Amino acid sequence: MEEKPNKQNLLQLDVLRYLYYKEALSINELSKLTGKSLPLVTSVINNLKEASIIVSNHLAPSTGGRRALEYQLNKASERYIIAVAVDQLVTRIVAFNLANEPILQPEERTIDLTKGMIALDQLIDFISSYLCNPILPVMGVIGIGIAMPGFVNAEKGMNRTYFGNQHIAQYIKSKLDYDVFIDNDSSTIALAELNFGAAKGMEDVMVVNVGWGIGLGMIVNGKLFRGHNGYAGEFSHIPLADSNNLCSCGKRGCLEVDASLLVLTQKAQCEMKNGFASKMTEMLSDDGALSSEAMLDAANMGDQLAINQLSKAGFLIGKGIATLIHIMNPQGVVISGRGAIASKILMAPIQQAVNEFSIPMLAEQCVILPSELNKDAELLGAATLVMERTQKFF
Ligand SMILES: [Zn+2]
Repeated sequence: MEEKPNKQNLLQLDVLRYLYYKEALSINELSKLTGKSLPLVTSVINNLKEASIIVSNHLAPSTGGRRALEYQLNKASERYIIAVAVDQLVTRIVAFNLANEPILQPEERTIDLTKGMIALDQLIDFISSYLCNPILPVMGVIGIGIAMPGFVNAEKGMNRTYFGNQHIAQYIKSKLDYDVFIDNDSSTIALAELNFGAAKGMEDVMVVNVGWGIGLGMIVNGKLFRGHNGYAGEFSHIPLADSNNLCSCGKRGCLEVDASLLVLTQKAQCEMKNGFASKMTEMLSDDGALSSEAMLDAANMGDQLAINQLSKAGFLIGKGIATLIHIMNPQGVVISGRGAIASKILMAPIQQAVNEFSIPMLAEQCVILPSELNKDAELLGAATLVMERTQKFF
């Protein structure tokens, strides 16, 4: 049975979470945020200071005459978060300190998620070999956060799309002996943008994950909105495509069949076979495949074919965003995920479609922003899962 944290521990976890998100806070601010008395918060702060988990920050900005002492998480404390970003083909991993700075080089490995339990065992093997690095004192690992595509039930630790009824978080924990927290990739990206990225400070914001599919994480009233069964935000499968191609979900005409990075690379390869000159011909892998990174880089370097593909996709995504704006009336939309690497190409057609298909009164009040976290968003979001859900920090 899991240990139930006592009241003091709960307050300690609360304080640690606020410091993780806000960087530096005074005892007064922490007391207001947690709703607990100054003596209670002071005692928690003293404990954390003694354990070297937090340090005082003497450079706190002055808000008047007297300078309030602020506290922040000690990035030199030997506490680490393991963040894992899984997509259909490539899995990345990194160990962060408490300031979300990598303490080891990130690594990636090709794992085909459609292989079911074989893929899961490969994932466990990958995490396990990363944790073997002698630089990483394993005693300090707080937990492992894993972001992955598919219908994920975060509470039960299940991914219906790729692993059916298996309790995969529990399974991974049983093999690695660390707490494991999983969530959908677009939800974790939204959490990263909300806490550390372009959506910081916003209450109602839609975060679009441009990747192998077109995902969506919805922040409503400052919190992730999951819907009744936890599967809200299936943006990829709204019927907005110009073509009638079959989608991975079994239906036709979904946004994904014309706008996902997977489809865009396939289309670009087809055009190159038909003789369209492109820088991307030099960027193919040994087996002749075009990676989404290569296409995004080519677009940023001015390659016409890559830009054409991304622009068409951007317009369709913009049409979808116009629908979102009408339904949700958000204050912002953030274009995130790995596709955001080429946001300077994507933003113009997205904005054009929003202008064309939205009621001006709603669209004018909604800012559309590119992510600055890009590829890191998913890893940061995965780290957030651990800080958000761990019950035992020590
Ligand atoms: Zn679909």
